[in-house]
Amino acid sequence: PKAPSKHFILQAVEADLKSGRFDGVQTRFPPEPNGYLHIGHAKSICLNFGLAADLGGACNLRFDDTNPAKEDTEYVDSIQDDVRWLGFQWDNLHFASDYFDQLYTWAEKLIEDGKAYVCDLNAEETREYRGTLTEPGRNSPYRDRTPAENLELFRKMKAGDFADGEKTLRAKIDMSAPNINLRDPVMYRIAHVEHHRTGDTWCIYPMYDWAHGQSDSIEKITFSICTLEFEHHRPLYDWYCDSLQIHHPRQIEFARLNMTYTVMSKRKLLQLVKENHVTGWDDPRMPTLVGLRRRGYTPESIRAFCADIGVAKFNSTIDVVRLENAVRDHLNEVAPRRMAVLNPVKLTITNWPEENGKPVVEMMDATNNPGDAEAGSRQVPFTGNLWIEQDDFKEEAPRKFFRLKKGGAVRLRSGYIVDCEDVVKDDDGNVIEILCTYDTATKSGQDESGRKVKGTIHWVSRDHAAEVTVRNYDRLFCVENPDSSAEGKTFLDHLNPDSLSTTTAYVEPELAKAQVGDRVQFERLGYYVVDPDSTDSAMVFNRIVGLRDSWAK
Ligand code: ATP
Ligand code: MG
Ligand code: MG
Repeated sequence: PKAPSKHFILQAVEADLKSGRFDGVQTRFPPEPNGYLHIGHAKSICLNFGLAADLGGACNLRFDDTNPAKEDTEYVDSIQDDVRWLGFQWDNLHFASDYFDQLYTWAEKLIEDGKAYVCDLNAEETREYRGTLTEPGRNSPYRDRTPAENLELFRKMKAGDFADGEKTLRAKIDMSAPNINLRDPVMYRIAHVEHHRTGDTWCIYPMYDWAHGQSDSIEKITFSICTLEFEHHRPLYDWYCDSLQIHHPRQIEFARLNMTYTVMSKRKLLQLVKENHVTGWDDPRMPTLVGLRRRGYTPESIRAFCADIGVAKFNSTIDVVRLENAVRDHLNEVAPRRMAVLNPVKLTITNWPEENGKPVVEMMDATNNPGDAEAGSRQVPFTGNLWIEQDDFKEEAPRKFFRLKKGGAVRLRSGYIVDCEDVVKDDDGNVIEILCTYDTATKSGQDESGRKVKGTIHWVSRDHAAEVTVRNYDRLFCVENPDSSAEGKTFLDHLNPDSLSTTTAYVEPELAKAQVGDRVQFERLGYYVVDPDSTDSAMVFNRIVGLRDSWAK
């Protein structure tokens, strides 16, 4: 792999360390526990944990759990699993909800300093008073309440004296600020909702901007890395820290990951799950980390993908092919080769020897990974009764067809050269059995015949193969940008109807030993992983990715 060039965040961090603005690197990954992590989060995880690791710093995992209505401990647990699976370990685990008391105390301080007030405008009025990009906002009629009055009302808000939406606490900044985020943003809203950690202790909850920067400050974060949408929130982030005169992290924004053939918003992913368009968050077609994991992606390949796409200041869309290539490259190095036949047709060797009235079984030595001598080899039983792929035989074939044809010859991988003598057909004229003879002098590895054939095909013994289920997964959407809602369509209109097809396949007996999560290359077909739905008697393999990009134009 090429040496990574220093991205702009690394440059900014190094400059701040050099100038003495900060004397160390403390980052955090701050998910809201309202869904499962997706490949976009992986980019943020790699960036935050990577910076800390590269520069001798620390990285926290912090749950931004300030919106109880949508959050759940199921998500808290899955997020921790996912971060560990990706290969990272946080230095500290925090919850923004652990800071609710501190945030409350700071809010009272801002009230006392005349920098926050209780406002009685409802949500719609608040929006209306806020103005637009071209129109300045108007002051709330409640803006000039005295600190004493505000303090009393705020304490009543906390005590539960008001209904949802009846009052808010707002920062008193500037209703004519060009940046709308500075037009007296709401700091607290009333929500009589149980929180997954604090229960019913609170009925006022901090807004994201108010909680996020202060949580960063409490944790002495030095670099608060977030996605570009928050660039216009940075002045507010800075205003809160400055007004409170507390530790002031530096917020740096980068472009979020968007990928072709994928939706990435948690709301849409949740909709796919809820409406049963997929089997769950871990459906192998989902861009979630649990989905990619079940699909067979390795953590190494996802980290390599994140390193490959880099960190940019401008939004763009990454071709999903780059993710597929990352796992293909990694599995090419590490996945053992195995033989499996997905669309079988019988190949029978008519001159195969018998011993004591039974066909001989010969064990063939097959290389596990041609690129890795240490991977060794395995024994594959060879008999006169084989399965091969239907595609590997053509009765009438063009001259350039180097697989098996009538009257032609082909090498059976790790076995013998066979000559096709005849075929058996059913009543409809379909070839149901291919009759061959084998050339005894052509055993793989000990071939003394001097015969050369152009094609090599894979096979399994009909007397030994295990029957398994193969789930052939493809992209979940059939257009590059499913989010584009042209002609009143939604992303659901772009679901790929052929994103899953299931077949029965025959695999070499060695695969009966494979465990859930084991990844292999089915020779000449692609990479596959053992799915958790497998039982001892019925194995299920998921296609991770084909050997080549089948969508390439
Ligand atoms: P969504 O919009 O899907 O709900 P989110 O940004 O609300 O995502 P969070 O749980 O708040 O999700 O995200 C945690 C962290 O991951 C944030 O710092 C966020 O910036 C980052 N992140 C989320 N999505 C992406 C993405 N597509 N690319 C890069 N970073 C992302
Ligand atoms: Mg967020
Ligand atoms: Mg969100």
